[in-house]
Amino acid sequence: MARPHICILFAGGTIGMIRDPGTGALRPATHVSDLLRDIPELQKEIKLDFRMVMNIDSSNMEPPDWTTLAKNIFELYDHYDGFVITQGTDTMAYSASALSFALQNLSKPIVMTGSLIPLGELGADGRNNLIYACLTAALDIAEVCIVFANRIIRGNRAKKHHESFVDVFHSPNFPFLGELGRPTVLFDWRKRRRKRVLHFQPEFETNVSLLKMFPGFHPEIIDRVIERGAKGIMIEGFGPGNVPFLTQSIIPQIERATDAGIPVVLANQMERGITNLRAYEGGYKALNAGAISSHDMTTEATLTKLMWVLSQTTRVDRIQKIMEADLSGELSLS
Ligand code: ASP
Repeated sequence: MARPHICILFAGGTIGMIRDPGTGALRPATHVSDLLRDIPELQKEIKLDFRMVMNIDSSNMEPPDWTTLAKNIFELYDHYDGFVITQGTDTMAYSASALSFALQNLSKPIVMTGSLIPLGELGADGRNNLIYACLTAALDIAEVCIVFANRIIRGNRAKKHHESFVDVFHSPNFPFLGELGRPTVLFDWRKRRRKRVLHFQPEFETNVSLLKMFPGFHPEIIDRVIERGAKGIMIEGFGPGNVPFLTQSIIPQIERATDAGIPVVLANQMERGITNLRAYEGGYKALNAGAISSHDMTTEATLTKLMWVLSQTTRVDRIQKIMEADLSGELSLS
Protein backbone atom coordinates (compact mmCIF):
# COMPACT_ATOMS: atom_id res chain seq x y z
CA MET A 1 0.00 0.00 0.00
CA ALA A 2 1.25 3.48 -0.84
CA ARG A 3 2.42 5.66 2.04
CA PRO A 4 -0.15 8.30 3.00
CA HIS A 5 0.90 11.75 1.82
CA ILE A 6 0.51 14.44 4.48
CA CYS A 7 1.30 18.15 4.35
CA ILE A 8 2.39 19.99 7.51
CA LEU A 9 1.46 23.66 7.49
CA PHE A 10 3.43 25.72 9.98
CA ALA A 11 1.56 28.60 11.64
CA GLY A 12 3.70 29.28 14.70
CA GLY A 13 3.27 28.73 18.43
CA THR A 14 5.73 27.54 21.04
CA ILE A 15 6.81 24.62 18.85
CA GLY A 16 8.72 27.16 16.73
CA MET A 17 9.84 29.52 19.49
CA ILE A 18 13.12 30.30 21.21
CA ARG A 19 13.77 31.79 24.64
CA ASP A 20 14.92 35.38 24.69
CA PRO A 21 18.22 35.28 26.63
CA GLY A 22 17.54 38.70 28.13
CA THR A 23 13.96 38.35 29.38
CA GLY A 24 13.55 34.55 29.49
CA ALA A 25 10.23 34.97 27.60
CA LEU A 26 9.43 32.83 24.57
CA ARG A 27 9.19 34.45 21.15
CA PRO A 28 8.92 33.15 17.57
CA ALA A 29 12.30 32.13 16.14
CA THR A 30 13.39 33.98 13.02
CA HIS A 31 14.27 30.70 11.34
CA VAL A 32 12.27 27.58 12.03
CA SER A 33 14.37 24.51 11.49
CA ASP A 34 12.78 22.02 9.14
CA LEU A 35 10.44 20.09 11.43
CA LEU A 36 10.73 17.05 9.20
CA ARG A 37 14.35 16.58 10.27
CA ASP A 38 13.12 15.81 13.77
CA ILE A 39 10.89 12.92 12.77
CA PRO A 40 12.88 10.75 10.31
CA GLU A 41 11.38 7.45 11.51
CA LEU A 42 7.86 8.67 10.75
CA GLN A 43 8.79 9.32 7.15
CA LYS A 44 9.23 5.60 6.56
CA GLU A 45 5.47 5.28 7.07
CA ILE A 46 4.15 8.64 5.93
CA LYS A 47 5.32 10.84 3.09
CA LEU A 48 5.60 14.30 4.59
CA ASP A 49 5.83 17.74 3.03
CA PHE A 50 6.30 21.00 4.91
CA ARG A 51 4.96 24.46 4.14
CA MET A 52 5.74 27.57 6.16
CA VAL A 53 2.62 29.76 6.34
CA MET A 54 3.39 32.07 9.28
CA ASN A 55 5.34 32.05 12.52
CA ILE A 56 3.56 34.04 15.21
CA ASP A 57 2.38 33.64 18.77
CA SER A 58 -1.23 32.57 18.40
CA SER A 59 -2.39 35.46 20.58
CA ASN A 60 -1.52 37.62 17.56
CA MET A 61 -3.60 35.52 15.18
CA GLU A 62 -6.58 37.27 13.61
CA PRO A 63 -9.48 36.05 11.48
CA PRO A 64 -7.62 36.86 8.21
CA ASP A 65 -4.99 34.33 9.37
CA TRP A 66 -7.69 31.64 9.52
CA THR A 67 -8.62 32.66 5.98
CA THR A 68 -4.98 32.29 4.92
CA LEU A 69 -4.79 28.80 6.45
CA ALA A 70 -8.08 27.78 4.82
CA LYS A 71 -6.88 29.06 1.43
CA ASN A 72 -3.61 27.12 1.75
CA ILE A 73 -5.52 23.93 2.44
CA PHE A 74 -7.99 24.59 -0.37
CA GLU A 75 -5.11 25.07 -2.81
CA LEU A 76 -3.39 21.82 -1.73
CA TYR A 77 -6.53 19.83 -0.95
CA ASP A 78 -6.46 17.35 -3.85
CA HIS A 79 -2.74 16.61 -3.52
CA TYR A 80 -2.70 15.19 0.01
CA ASP A 81 -4.40 12.53 2.12
CA GLY A 82 -4.50 14.80 5.15
CA PHE A 83 -3.13 17.97 6.71
CA VAL A 84 -1.38 18.90 9.95
CA ILE A 85 -1.31 22.50 11.16
CA THR A 86 1.05 23.52 13.95
CA GLN A 87 0.11 26.66 15.87
CA GLY A 88 0.02 27.94 19.45
CA THR A 89 -2.43 26.51 21.92
CA ASP A 90 -3.69 29.87 23.20
CA THR A 91 -6.11 30.40 20.32
CA MET A 92 -6.03 26.93 18.75
CA ALA A 93 -9.66 26.24 19.66
CA TYR A 94 -10.69 29.41 17.78
CA SER A 95 -8.66 28.45 14.69
CA ALA A 96 -9.93 24.88 14.71
CA SER A 97 -13.53 26.06 15.01
CA ALA A 98 -13.05 28.67 12.29
CA LEU A 99 -11.52 26.12 9.90
CA SER A 100 -14.38 23.70 10.54
CA PHE A 101 -16.76 26.36 9.15
CA ALA A 102 -14.49 27.60 6.37
CA LEU A 103 -13.84 24.06 5.05
CA GLN A 104 -17.01 22.00 5.36
CA ASN A 105 -17.95 18.57 4.08
CA LEU A 106 -14.36 17.37 4.41
CA SER A 107 -13.27 14.07 2.95
CA LYS A 108 -9.92 14.05 4.82
CA PRO A 109 -8.59 15.24 8.17
CA ILE A 110 -7.13 18.60 9.15
CA VAL A 111 -5.23 18.02 12.39
CA MET A 112 -4.00 20.85 14.59
CA THR A 113 -1.23 20.45 17.13
CA GLY A 114 1.49 22.38 18.91
CA SER A 115 3.52 22.24 22.08
CA LEU A 116 4.00 23.76 25.49
CA ILE A 117 7.81 23.63 25.34
CA PRO A 118 9.88 24.67 22.28
CA LEU A 119 11.23 21.80 20.19
CA GLY A 120 14.81 22.69 21.01
CA GLU A 121 14.39 22.56 24.82
CA LEU A 122 14.71 19.69 27.25
CA GLY A 123 11.46 17.73 27.78
CA ALA A 124 9.83 19.20 24.68
CA ASP A 125 6.40 17.76 23.96
CA GLY A 126 6.20 19.00 20.37
CA ARG A 127 7.95 16.06 18.74
CA ASN A 128 5.48 13.55 20.15
CA ASN A 129 2.51 15.77 19.40
CA LEU A 130 3.70 16.19 15.85
CA ILE A 131 4.13 12.45 15.38
CA TYR A 132 0.66 11.75 16.81
CA ALA A 133 -0.85 14.50 14.67
CA CYS A 134 0.71 13.06 11.51
CA LEU A 135 -0.49 9.56 12.41
CA THR A 136 -3.98 10.97 12.96
CA ALA A 137 -3.87 12.76 9.60
CA ALA A 138 -3.43 9.33 8.00
CA LEU A 139 -6.42 7.79 9.82
CA ASP A 140 -9.94 7.29 8.52
CA ILE A 141 -11.15 10.65 9.84
CA ALA A 142 -12.68 13.56 7.93
CA GLU A 143 -12.83 16.37 10.47
CA VAL A 144 -10.89 19.33 11.76
CA CYS A 145 -9.43 17.98 14.97
CA ILE A 146 -6.90 18.84 17.65
CA VAL A 147 -4.34 16.25 18.73
CA PHE A 148 -2.46 16.76 21.98
CA ALA A 149 -0.72 13.98 23.89
CA ASN A 150 -2.64 10.95 22.63
CA ARG A 151 -6.09 12.56 22.49
CA ILE A 152 -7.98 13.26 19.31
CA ILE A 153 -10.55 16.01 19.91
CA ARG A 154 -13.11 17.50 17.54
CA GLY A 155 -11.73 20.99 16.86
CA ASN A 156 -14.96 22.93 17.23
CA ARG A 157 -15.68 21.21 20.58
CA ALA A 158 -12.27 21.90 22.12
CA LYS A 159 -11.36 24.34 24.87
CA LYS A 160 -7.90 25.06 26.21
CA HIS A 161 -8.00 23.68 29.72
CA HIS A 162 -4.62 23.54 31.36
CA GLU A 163 -0.93 23.97 30.59
CA SER A 164 -0.03 20.38 31.37
CA PHE A 165 1.26 17.98 28.73
CA VAL A 166 -1.59 15.51 29.02
CA ASP A 167 -4.51 17.81 29.66
CA VAL A 168 -4.12 20.86 27.43
CA PHE A 169 -7.51 20.55 25.74
CA HIS A 170 -10.87 19.40 26.95
CA SER A 171 -14.02 18.69 25.02
CA PRO A 172 -16.64 19.68 27.58
CA ASN A 173 -19.81 18.77 25.70
CA PHE A 174 -18.68 16.04 23.33
CA PRO A 175 -16.66 12.81 23.75
CA PHE A 176 -13.08 12.67 22.43
CA LEU A 177 -12.99 11.39 18.86
CA GLY A 178 -10.36 8.86 19.81
CA GLU A 179 -7.10 7.97 21.51
CA LEU A 180 -3.80 7.06 19.91
CA GLY A 181 -1.95 4.13 21.36
CA ARG A 182 -1.71 0.39 21.22
CA PRO A 183 -4.27 0.00 19.84
CA THR A 184 -5.50 3.33 18.52
CA VAL A 185 -9.23 3.61 19.12
CA LEU A 186 -11.79 5.88 17.54
CA PHE A 187 -15.12 6.44 19.29
CA ASP A 188 -17.52 8.74 17.50
CA TRP A 189 -16.19 10.50 14.42
CA ARG A 190 -16.83 11.33 10.79
CA LYS A 191 -15.18 8.97 8.31
CA ARG A 192 -13.54 9.71 4.97
CA ARG A 193 -15.76 9.60 1.89
CA ARG A 194 -13.92 10.25 -1.31
CA LYS A 195 -16.90 11.66 -3.19
CA ARG A 196 -17.71 14.47 -0.74
CA VAL A 197 -17.49 17.89 -2.33
CA LEU A 198 -15.66 20.44 -0.21
CA HIS A 199 -17.63 23.58 0.73
CA PHE A 200 -15.11 26.37 0.81
CA GLN A 201 -16.16 29.68 2.39
CA PRO A 202 -13.09 31.19 4.09
CA GLU A 203 -14.25 34.71 5.01
CA PHE A 204 -15.01 36.04 8.51
CA GLU A 205 -16.64 39.30 9.61
CA THR A 206 -14.38 40.74 12.28
CA ASN A 207 -16.64 43.55 13.45
CA VAL A 208 -18.26 41.61 16.31
CA SER A 209 -18.22 41.95 20.10
CA LEU A 210 -18.02 39.35 22.84
CA LEU A 211 -19.33 40.57 26.20
CA LYS A 212 -19.35 38.74 29.50
CA MET A 213 -22.08 39.45 32.05
CA PHE A 214 -21.01 40.20 35.61
CA PRO A 215 -23.01 41.47 38.58
CA GLY A 216 -23.15 45.24 38.06
CA PHE A 217 -22.75 45.14 34.25
CA HIS A 218 -23.72 48.49 32.74
CA PRO A 219 -26.26 48.04 29.93
CA GLU A 220 -24.86 51.17 28.23
CA ILE A 221 -21.82 49.09 27.26
CA ILE A 222 -24.09 47.32 24.77
CA ASP A 223 -25.41 50.70 23.55
CA ARG A 224 -21.84 51.80 22.82
CA VAL A 225 -21.15 48.54 20.99
CA ILE A 226 -24.25 49.10 18.82
CA GLU A 227 -23.29 52.73 18.15
CA ARG A 228 -19.77 51.68 17.13
CA GLY A 229 -21.36 49.68 14.32
CA ALA A 230 -20.94 46.06 15.48
CA LYS A 231 -22.34 43.59 12.96
CA GLY A 232 -22.99 40.96 15.61
CA ILE A 233 -22.89 40.66 19.40
CA MET A 234 -22.25 37.61 21.53
CA ILE A 235 -23.08 37.76 25.24
CA GLU A 236 -22.05 35.24 27.86
CA GLY A 237 -24.87 35.22 30.39
CA PHE A 238 -25.13 33.59 33.80
CA GLY A 239 -26.04 29.94 34.40
CA PRO A 240 -27.78 28.57 31.30
CA GLY A 241 -27.79 32.02 29.64
CA ASN A 242 -29.64 34.28 32.08
CA VAL A 243 -29.23 38.04 31.88
CA PRO A 244 -30.18 40.86 34.26
CA PHE A 245 -33.74 42.11 33.69
CA LEU A 246 -34.50 44.34 36.71
CA THR A 247 -32.67 47.60 37.52
CA GLN A 248 -29.72 46.94 35.20
CA SER A 249 -31.80 45.18 32.56
CA ILE A 250 -30.13 44.50 29.23
CA ILE A 251 -33.38 43.36 27.58
CA PRO A 252 -33.99 46.78 25.90
CA GLN A 253 -30.46 46.59 24.43
CA ILE A 254 -31.06 43.10 23.04
CA GLU A 255 -34.26 44.38 21.46
CA ARG A 256 -32.56 47.50 20.14
CA ALA A 257 -29.74 45.50 18.53
CA THR A 258 -32.07 42.94 16.99
CA ASP A 259 -34.36 45.68 15.60
CA ALA A 260 -31.30 47.32 14.05
CA GLY A 261 -30.44 44.05 12.29
CA ILE A 262 -27.59 43.13 14.65
CA PRO A 263 -27.89 39.52 15.79
CA VAL A 264 -27.36 38.93 19.52
CA VAL A 265 -26.19 35.43 20.42
CA LEU A 266 -26.59 34.45 24.04
CA ALA A 267 -24.18 31.89 25.51
CA ASN A 268 -23.12 30.94 29.03
CA GLN A 269 -20.02 31.09 31.21
CA MET A 270 -20.10 27.58 32.62
CA GLU A 271 -17.21 25.18 32.16
CA ARG A 272 -19.47 22.51 30.72
CA GLY A 273 -22.22 24.93 29.85
CA ILE A 274 -25.33 24.35 27.82
CA THR A 275 -27.43 27.41 27.05
CA ASN A 276 -31.14 27.07 27.68
CA LEU A 277 -32.98 30.35 27.33
CA ARG A 278 -36.25 28.81 28.48
CA ALA A 279 -34.99 27.80 31.91
CA TYR A 280 -35.38 31.15 33.74
CA GLU A 281 -37.15 34.47 33.34
CA GLY A 282 -33.97 36.33 32.33
CA GLY A 283 -33.21 33.97 29.46
CA TYR A 284 -36.83 33.85 28.42
CA LYS A 285 -37.11 37.63 28.21
CA ALA A 286 -33.89 37.73 26.20
CA LEU A 287 -35.29 35.10 23.84
CA ASN A 288 -38.45 37.15 23.34
CA ALA A 289 -36.32 40.22 22.70
CA GLY A 290 -34.65 38.34 19.82
CA ALA A 291 -31.64 36.61 21.38
CA ILE A 292 -30.27 33.54 19.57
CA SER A 293 -29.17 30.58 21.72
CA SER A 294 -25.66 29.12 21.54
CA HIS A 295 -27.06 25.77 22.74
CA ASP A 296 -24.10 23.52 23.65
CA MET A 297 -21.48 25.22 21.49
CA THR A 298 -18.25 26.41 23.04
CA THR A 299 -17.55 30.14 23.14
CA GLU A 300 -14.88 29.61 20.49
CA ALA A 301 -17.25 27.79 18.12
CA THR A 302 -20.09 30.26 18.73
CA LEU A 303 -18.00 33.34 18.07
CA THR A 304 -16.22 32.03 14.97
CA LYS A 305 -19.51 30.69 13.60
CA LEU A 306 -21.10 34.13 14.08
CA MET A 307 -18.16 35.77 12.26
CA TRP A 308 -18.44 33.21 9.48
CA VAL A 309 -22.22 33.55 9.06
CA LEU A 310 -22.00 37.35 9.06
CA SER A 311 -19.58 37.25 6.14
CA GLN A 312 -22.39 35.72 4.09
CA THR A 313 -25.65 37.30 5.16
CA THR A 314 -26.94 40.18 7.25
CA ARG A 315 -30.48 38.85 7.56
CA VAL A 316 -31.10 38.13 11.25
CA ASP A 317 -33.64 35.36 10.54
CA ARG A 318 -31.13 33.58 8.25
CA ILE A 319 -28.35 34.09 10.79
CA GLN A 320 -30.51 32.61 13.56
CA LYS A 321 -31.31 29.56 11.43
CA ILE A 322 -27.66 28.90 10.63
CA MET A 323 -26.42 29.62 14.17
CA GLU A 324 -28.88 27.09 15.55
CA ALA A 325 -28.09 24.42 12.95
CA ASP A 326 -25.32 21.84 13.20
CA LEU A 327 -22.88 22.56 10.38
CA SER A 328 -19.73 20.65 11.32
CA GLY A 329 -20.49 18.72 14.47
CA GLU A 330 -20.19 21.82 16.67
CA LEU A 331 -23.72 21.61 18.10
CA SER A 332 -25.85 18.74 19.36
CA LEU A 333 -29.42 18.89 18.18
CA SER A 334 -31.69 17.46 20.81
N1 ASP B 1 1.59 31.63 23.49
C1 ASP B 1 1.72 30.42 22.71
C2 ASP B 1 0.82 30.53 21.51
O1 ASP B 1 -0.36 30.35 21.62
C3 ASP B 1 1.39 29.23 23.53
C4 ASP B 1 1.52 27.91 22.81
O2 ASP B 1 2.16 27.80 21.78
O3 ASP B 1 0.96 26.95 23.29
O4 ASP B 1 1.31 30.79 20.44
